[in-house]
Amino acid sequence: MFKELPKSRPFFVLLITFFSFQLFLAGQQSSSDSYFIRFDSEESKIVHVEANLTLEDDTLRMSDYGPMPERWPDYVKNLEVRDDEGQVRAVEKKEAKWIIANAEPGAYIQLSYDLHIDHEEINWPGGIDGVAFVRTWGIMLSGRSLFVVNGSDKEDIKVQVELPDAYQFSAPWNGVAGIPNTFVVKNHLQLQESLLFAGTHKEIIMPRGDFKLKFVLGGEEILAKEKEYVDTAEKVLDYYIQLMGGNPLPTPGNNLSTAMVIINQSESTDGEVIGNHLSMFINPKGDMQNQMIGWFMFAHEFYHLWNGKTLRFQDSETDWFKEGVTSYYTLKALNQVGMVNEEVSKMIMNNLFYQRYVNDSAYGKLAPAKAASGFDKDNHWGLVYGGGFFAGVCMDMQIRKNTENKTSLDDVMRKLYLDFGGKDALIDQNTLIRYANKQGNTNFKTFIETYIEGTAAMPLQEYFPHAGMQVNLAEEQLQLSHIPEKTELQHQIWEGFLGKN
Ligand SMILES: [Zn+2]
Repeated sequence: MFKELPKSRPFFVLLITFFSFQLFLAGQQSSSDSYFIRFDSEESKIVHVEANLTLEDDTLRMSDYGPMPERWPDYVKNLEVRDDEGQVRAVEKKEAKWIIANAEPGAYIQLSYDLHIDHEEINWPGGIDGVAFVRTWGIMLSGRSLFVVNGSDKEDIKVQVELPDAYQFSAPWNGVAGIPNTFVVKNHLQLQESLLFAGTHKEIIMPRGDFKLKFVLGGEEILAKEKEYVDTAEKVLDYYIQLMGGNPLPTPGNNLSTAMVIINQSESTDGEVIGNHLSMFINPKGDMQNQMIGWFMFAHEFYHLWNGKTLRFQDSETDWFKEGVTSYYTLKALNQVGMVNEEVSKMIMNNLFYQRYVNDSAYGKLAPAKAASGFDKDNHWGLVYGGGFFAGVCMDMQIRKNTENKTSLDDVMRKLYLDFGGKDALIDQNTLIRYANKQGNTNFKTFIETYIEGTAAMPLQEYFPHAGMQVNLAEEQLQLSHIPEKTELQHQIWEGFLGKN
């Protein structure tokens, strides 16, 4: 089936692998597509791919996703198509696709190509972290950069990986029992919206019932801090599971059983999300602020598995909740795992959220609910993330005050999880107001109309005092200080703000 025999492995190992994959394929009744990917230690910048495909149409294409999807095919070389008799078929490259001459739907083809991992030679919007790169300890590929596919209805796609001896392979897919490095992938989306790592990295699996976090660490200095990184990630994971009352829940037809987080050593800190997965660069020797940004990014993106993927929203009017409230819980999580303390929390709140909120170019002119539509989300980060963060804080404080800290925004999250988690139904603004009202024995309608659907400045001076905090906004800085003699309730509300209860 595969034309070339890999050179780097003992023949018997190859034979076993080869026949077990053949048996595995034969055992499948359907004519599912299959891919064979070969990594080579001699030529780490070239990955060889062979695929057996049943044609749905005459077009071979790559992912439509990514910062510049039209670039994916530029790195595919020596693409060749053979028919079921082994004859080479003419293929014409047209824009970012390949058209097979005289292709007939239902026909079987063998496709082969080399992927040249030279992506880093040019600039990519958002950085190389979500694209593809080679390091001395291994190769990171996004499924977007690797897979050439045909059709759209393919299911249970088989993938087998051949590696140099010292290498291992990490992917977020379900493995096939008994056959190493062999996977069945549900559809094209999960094939291409994935992150893969082949190398001498370390893979740590954190299982939590039907969900697992696959943690991939690459680079000597990152590995030196393995325990610290794993401990922090486990604690963040457990904080969120406890907060929400359960694991991330997939909506029908989707998969949330595995999230993969790849952390590679780098000079700078960066991160990119693909599907349920996250590729990050962290500088293990960077200063505290650098480390903090990295962990904030991790904990923010990770919470989206619940607030964004388990709970899903009607439209961008609720992005203040999806992004801002996620950031609020990110800060709580980092407090609870001991990553930040109260002073650092105040600093993050002022420097990151308050500064960007009041300095947003449309502050006072554009409502946060309107700031996230189309391309505005990144242009108005301050209104959506900052405004949303403080809306979450105000609502949390009000619910806590009204119920003597018996309930909080945490309960709103848990109720939403129970009623909407893993279901098709989408959440809109009125649903959020309804759930918060019920929890807080109050009516947030005017609050939302004024500060989220309206353009008024968040009334921080009204709400922080619920936690016994004095607010000073002089010179556009958010300065919080404890009032001298706090009531027990104010003390509890502040602890709650930091995520304790
Ligand atoms: Zn986000």
